[in-house]
Amino acid sequence: PETQLPFDPSKKTLVLLGTGWGSTTVLKNLDTENFNVVVVSPRNYFLFTPLLPSCTVGTIENRSIMEPVRLLMRHKMREVKFYEAECTDIDAAKKQLTIERRVDADGNEVKLGEGETTTINYDYLVVGVGGTVNTFGTPGVEQHACFLKEMGDARRIRRRLMDSVESASFDDITDAERDRLLHMVVVGGGPTGIEYAGELHDFLVDDLTQWYPELADRVRITLVEALPNVLPAFDKKLIDYTQSTFKENKITILTRTMVKEVKDKSFTVQNPDGSRSEIPYGLLVWATGIKSQPVVNKIRAQFADAQTNGRGLLVDEYLRVKGAKDVWALGDCALSGYAPLAQVAAQQGKWLSRHLNRLAADNAQNPEADLHALIEEKSRPFKYSSQGSLAYIGSEKAIADLPFFNRNITAGGIATFWFWKSAYLSELFSLRNSTLVASDWVKRFFFGRDISRE
Ligand code: FAD
Ligand code: NAD
Repeated sequence: PETQLPFDPSKKTLVLLGTGWGSTTVLKNLDTENFNVVVVSPRNYFLFTPLLPSCTVGTIENRSIMEPVRLLMRHKMREVKFYEAECTDIDAAKKQLTIERRVDADGNEVKLGEGETTTINYDYLVVGVGGTVNTFGTPGVEQHACFLKEMGDARRIRRRLMDSVESASFDDITDAERDRLLHMVVVGGGPTGIEYAGELHDFLVDDLTQWYPELADRVRITLVEALPNVLPAFDKKLIDYTQSTFKENKITILTRTMVKEVKDKSFTVQNPDGSRSEIPYGLLVWATGIKSQPVVNKIRAQFADAQTNGRGLLVDEYLRVKGAKDVWALGDCALSGYAPLAQVAAQQGKWLSRHLNRLAADNAQNPEADLHALIEEKSRPFKYSSQGSLAYIGSEKAIADLPFFNRNITAGGIATFWFWKSAYLSELFSLRNSTLVASDWVKRFFFGRDISRE
């Protein structure tokens, strides 16, 4: 619209927490005719996480998979208010949230509790704050490892990777030190760890061999997984295919091996026989899954009788937070019985916005209508419909586990890689992002990846 409608005091205020898969899908589909919408997130953009591993080595440039939230807001009928801040607390009785701005004047992140805080009120609250990296309390991980969850993590990995390679180019270091610097380690054999190891392998083969021919042969990639095999959620055939592709690509997989401590230049593992070893490394990426955000624990504390699971917010089949009134949760922060997947968060976002739109429109003349109760009375429960799993495993190969007429079709290889590429291109949030990603792929094909340190 040319001019947006202003906030309407006669309408209810719906606050959305987060700008990830769940909340952004709600924002995109919510009819602002019937609500005043406020978005609170420390991130003023949506991040297309499936392509994040590609940013760690420059296959794709960072901004190609970021979509500014204000681009979405400007297409709404009514103005949407955005606060770049983190929600840190909730007072459910007052229907009030505390939000904290966690950047200082130089744009640096400040510690939780040290930023400026303010309060905002809600009538309806949708919590889509995702999860945070789980270190399982392993000593040294926070200090020395890189994560792969947010764009800042991908940027850090890319810088640390180039630092290790440049340091290894000095003549006056020992061979042992050179080998340490060139040992790249991935902890966690879930899809994040596997996709990252695949991208790293491509960078090594396509680019490092050209720019650092004297070092490329010495680079080693090791993936450490505590369970007996990688990708536990995938079909057995695809696990075998991934493991054999990694073997061909000279990526060592250590299974039944658990990382127990990370120091600045080495990490300790517990081997399958129970013994411990210390292994030197240059770059260590920690990809062992997620746990609850701190604010989720604050919300749980308000409804302690019903919220008995520390892994997230228990929701019912209408995505209502158990024990709460007028609070919904979706995506990775909600315990809805489904895996923490982008597809789940997006489908929940669509479901919730569709029902809230319909109920609000049906009751437009009655501002006191109780949408919390009506959603159960007038809607079918949310049900997830899996579109299958796809993962890139390096050397232009991908794996796919796709539901097809009540059967699962599995495929792995180069054709699957092209399917992976086209599926992700079509899933990207906007034409702008798809164009940027496609042009990054073409750029890489002709000019290789950019190895400059930023
Ligand atoms: P998120 O997308 O994590 O978004 C959470 C939002 O909340 C963010 O904007 C964050 O800044 C904000 N936030 C955090 N704390 C607060 C707070 N206190 N107050 C306000 N806002 C807050 N899934 C798939 O299905 N397919 C894939 O191929 C796939 N690939 C992945 C690759 C990687 C590298 C990673 C890390 C994950 C991948 N996933 C994939 C999983 C998928 O990204 C998550 O399941 C999905 O992001 C969950 O969506 P969400 O909306 O719950 O949370
Ligand atoms: P994950 O939970 O799927 O896997 C983490 C792995 O780390 C587990 O296999 C676990 O056994 C291992 N681990 C934990 N502690 C360890 C230790 N100390 N030492 C060694 N290994 C250890 O985590 P993820 O890969 O980050 O994925 C998170 C979610 O995002 C999942 O739901 C996943 O399906 C989804 N995701 C999907 C895709 C895709 O579909 N392509 C890509 C990335 C992520």
